[in-house]
Amino acid sequence: MKKTGDAAKSTKKTAKAKSTVKAKNTVKAKKTVEAKKTVKTKTVKAKKAVKAKATKAKTVKAAKVVKTKNITRIPIKIVDLNIASHKGLFDEGCYGSQCQDECCGWGCDIDFATIKLITKHRDKVEALTGAKVEDCFKTPLKQDEDYIGGAYRETAVRKSDKLCCFHLKGSKGCSLFYLWIKEQLPKKIVPTICRTYPVTWHRGKLFADLPLKKNCKAKEKTPKGVKVASLFETQKKELKALFDIPKKEWKKLEDAVKTGK
Ligand code: SF4
Ligand code: SF4
Repeated sequence: MKKTGDAAKSTKKTAKAKSTVKAKNTVKAKKTVEAKKTVKTKTVKAKKAVKAKATKAKTVKAAKVVKTKNITRIPIKIVDLNIASHKGLFDEGCYGSQCQDECCGWGCDIDFATIKLITKHRDKVEALTGAKVEDCFKTPLKQDEDYIGGAYRETAVRKSDKLCCFHLKGSKGCSLFYLWIKEQLPKKIVPTICRTYPVTWHRGKLFADLPLKKNCKAKEKTPKGVKVASLFETQKKELKALFDIPKKEWKKLEDAVKTGK
């Protein structure tokens, strides 16, 4: 039966009323979903903030438990002159070599001063490594005056590529070097050992960490008669910035470079 007159009108009204109710309900539902989303986002943000605070608090607490010191340069008493004669990281250094960051396979010790910076910029570091900063360490903070800041932690090695957890995920290079070079964060975000390697130190002695890894740039063959810069020359700027080397030891190194001994 076909609807006519009031009956038809009333049907239309009912439909209108129904669609109004439906529209209202849809708007209401949308608002509820949006509100839920906002609450969820806020909750996630709040959780992240709480987590970041907790990690910062842990670092500060650890530093209080472990007595850190205001050591800004590592004291050296004696230098091994082999760093003035051994081939250095010439040309473009590690970046210009076949080496796939082999020494990063050991992980490294990170000075307390560097740990503080990594913690401060944790979001940037985590975006590059794909891991939580806390998971990149395998040892707790240990007091040791052989490190800048008077304490250090050892990094963990990733299972997937057997490289230090601070290495860039999936490409050559270190996330901390990246943040210093590409994002102009303070250079101190790079651990001391990684800035000076293959020159290293132990309890007042500065020396080359021999034997070097197989593909290390400092081991690369050069054509006969071609002289390349020594480890002391290629790492000089960093050695000066990070170590307190007595003048007479420094002079010994410079003289050895001049005389080629
Ligand atoms: S901190 Fe960077 S340079 Fe140092 S071992 Fe780890 S990945 Fe390599
Ligand atoms: S092994 Fe040598 S060339 Fe390779 S990353 Fe280490 S220092 Fe650089």
